[in-house]
Amino acid sequence: MRAVHRFTVRAHLPEALSALGTLATNLRWTWHPPTQDLFASVDPEVWAAVGGDPLRLLAEVPAGRLSRLAKDEDFLARTRAVDDDLRRYLTVPRWYQQRQDEGGLLPASVAYFSMEFGVTEALPNYSGGLGVLAGDHLKSASDLGVPMIGVGLLYRSGYFRQALSSEGWQVEHYPVLDPRGLPLEMLTEPSGEPLLVRVGMPAGRTLRARIWKAQVGRVPLLLLDTDLPDNDDDLRGTTDRLYGGDADHRIRQEILAGVGGMRAVRAYCALTGHPQPEVFHTNEGHAGFLGLERIRELHQDHGLQFDEAVVAVRAGTVFTTHTPVPAGIDRFPVDLVRHYFGEGTARDLVPGVPTNRVLALGAEDNPGMFNMAHMGLRLAQRANGVSELHGGVSRKMFRGLWPGFGTEEIPIGSVTNGVHGPTWSARELGKLLGESEMDSGAGLRGMEPVSDSLLWELRCSLRQRLVDEVRRRLRHAWRQRGASDLELGWCDSVFDPDVLTIGFARRVPTYKRVTLMLRDTERLRALLLDAERPVQVVVAGKSHPADEGGKVMIQKIVQFADQADVRHRIVFLPDYDMSLARYLVSGCDVWLNNPVRPLEACGTSGMKAALNGGLNLSVRDGWWDEMFDGHNGWAIPNADGVTDPNRRDDLEAAALYELISTQVAPTFYERNTDGVPGKWMSMVRHTLATLGPRVQSSRMVREYVDHHYAPAARSAKAVATADYQGAKEIADYRARLSAAWTWVKISDTEMSVQGGGTPLLGGQVVVRAQVDLAGLDPSDVDVEVVVGRVDDSDVLHDFVRESMHPTEAGGYEATVTLPHAGPAGYTVRVLPKHPLLSGPAELGKVVLATS
Ligand SMILES: *Cc1c(COP(=O)(O)O)cnc(C)c1O
Repeated sequence: MRAVHRFTVRAHLPEALSALGTLATNLRWTWHPPTQDLFASVDPEVWAAVGGDPLRLLAEVPAGRLSRLAKDEDFLARTRAVDDDLRRYLTVPRWYQQRQDEGGLLPASVAYFSMEFGVTEALPNYSGGLGVLAGDHLKSASDLGVPMIGVGLLYRSGYFRQALSSEGWQVEHYPVLDPRGLPLEMLTEPSGEPLLVRVGMPAGRTLRARIWKAQVGRVPLLLLDTDLPDNDDDLRGTTDRLYGGDADHRIRQEILAGVGGMRAVRAYCALTGHPQPEVFHTNEGHAGFLGLERIRELHQDHGLQFDEAVVAVRAGTVFTTHTPVPAGIDRFPVDLVRHYFGEGTARDLVPGVPTNRVLALGAEDNPGMFNMAHMGLRLAQRANGVSELHGGVSRKMFRGLWPGFGTEEIPIGSVTNGVHGPTWSARELGKLLGESEMDSGAGLRGMEPVSDSLLWELRCSLRQRLVDEVRRRLRHAWRQRGASDLELGWCDSVFDPDVLTIGFARRVPTYKRVTLMLRDTERLRALLLDAERPVQVVVAGKSHPADEGGKVMIQKIVQFADQADVRHRIVFLPDYDMSLARYLVSGCDVWLNNPVRPLEACGTSGMKAALNGGLNLSVRDGWWDEMFDGHNGWAIPNADGVTDPNRRDDLEAAALYELISTQVAPTFYERNTDGVPGKWMSMVRHTLATLGPRVQSSRMVREYVDHHYAPAARSAKAVATADYQGAKEIADYRARLSAAWTWVKISDTEMSVQGGGTPLLGGQVVVRAQVDLAGLDPSDVDVEVVVGRVDDSDVLHDFVRESMHPTEAGGYEATVTLPHAGPAGYTVRVLPKHPLLSGPAELGKVVLATS
């Protein structure tokens, strides 16, 4: 018999234990060991059985146990202490408040939009790295005191759970989540009715969503949920699955996240008195429609015209791209966007705005497609990639939006991702190194006095814990594949707690090449079975349900690992999630990553390993490209320039085997007289000391605050003062510029060497030009000379720029010092100039000399 509906009964807590309810719903427990210990002590067995989830613990622990604890003075005292600690955490001034005291103009609050948030496995609302990054972003914002509001969707089935068939094929199932059983609170009107946001849909329909709030330390996370009987059936399923449906389903989700998300933020702030955000951060382009909602607000509440509103929206928006290839960009057929935003349909979305203006925001080369990343860039004054390398890749990929500019001038910067130390570093390590809970992995002040042998002992105990977990999970996986306990005795002896352990876990898109290690199975077998220096490998990862290629790769790994001669040295563990990730990143000695460079925008799991003293063995892609220093791990040489993917994989796999057998394994097994691997431990120490602070999401969030949020808040204020005078001025300026721009001309450029003769390195030249400004005022523009190296097709590189000044003769002139020897070139160009622009490339307008 199956239930027709499901619901969750929350435990009724005795009055004396009411603080446990608060402690269970504020997700700070996920990174606060003392709170976890308190819950564990409620009932250690139930705690283990529910996988360390406080709400489930409270629901399942026998009522008698709770009433006994309600009279247990020792337990009550510990509860009070943890509760007081949480209150302090939530109220005392932190880094952000200090920054404000130093006089920095910082935003009153920041709204952070993302389609997924991975805060804890107890709230499975994420699929992979993007979501975990968003969760870590909120946690660090909380630790730093950044007044942030997270915004996203609550999926009825979260992401799928992964199991394996007996043949090793990925099987997906979608457990239905009841929000009332999750650490969430539904927002209600003062009347007690659910607080709803409404978004107009075509044909005059309305999509309604309730708002659930997860409390992530100091940061509220608002999650929209359309599973309401008031919604039409098809609309009701809008938030059924993460990345599940077709384009129509996805655009509805994105309209809800962006437009509905903005409305949820407004309603939440009005309800609670939380300051309204001044800066809006879109984590990838999916929530980009929030810009349209803000245009609507500015139009309706402040009477701004479309172009003026765009200026105001841009000033306060930060856009982060995570995509390294055009194929990865989120796009919709233009007709679909027209269907949702066209005149006559969703009127309440962008009233009075001609549809073609909306469509122009997402225009790309293909006139049939609407490009969410292009809209993101057009609606954000500040944009960034997620590692230095990816910043460069993004500048190249999007340079078409800024024609005429050098790639290095494209206004897309980079903020390298980070991971939340208190979530991802093993608590035992922090204890050993004497860290406080606030700076796990961040400074390692206490490392010097800790001996190699103590640190090694700890690494061994973390490996042992992983081995136990591997055995437990492997047995469980085999039972799901149809084996009986009777034939699974061998699972208890897979892996060896003394053997060099390599981990590989991440989602399974093709570019991450989970099967690269199988390129030469005999080489791999030899490494696994080496009599003196064996390695063992643990692999995990989910394939997108629609990606057959990914499932084939998983099956290949599983079938290899199923073989009797190697199954004690290589395992595939199904259902990779944050809880498995914690075992893996803390217990593995080596973290392997072999994407096709440069397709890994950043990658973060290797950072989690580094926080635990794991050594990275990785292709120089994403974060590793900038942080590998020759002593903190190994770089797998990449076959740059080899275009045949088969040959490239052969070459890179061979390099991987070679590195493991000649460097990684020998270093691991080379022991001092006390049994400690001395050189290995020096690499571990170096990793903890130098990468520890750099890979933290607290470092990342501080960078966002200083380089993106603070400047965005200043820009937003500058365009908004005096009833959006600045926005109107820029809109006027842009209109004036557009009208004149095609007639602006530069002619008669000439260069003369000062003192005559040949140009010399470090010598000076004078450049002159005639410029017709087509009626623009000289103060509207910057005329500059650009001098640099030239390649065979005369493209300028490594150039320097110098502003030119008007001469009495009516032309422009500048003196430049020659920066390089060798083939050089120069040109003259006219650029927009306005104090409210973030830089000369912002408007994507430039006139280059033609003669
Ligand atoms: C950290 C993490 C990821 C991201 O890993 P990458 O190395 O960036 O691919 C994905 N899934 C889970 C569960 C994680 O914890």
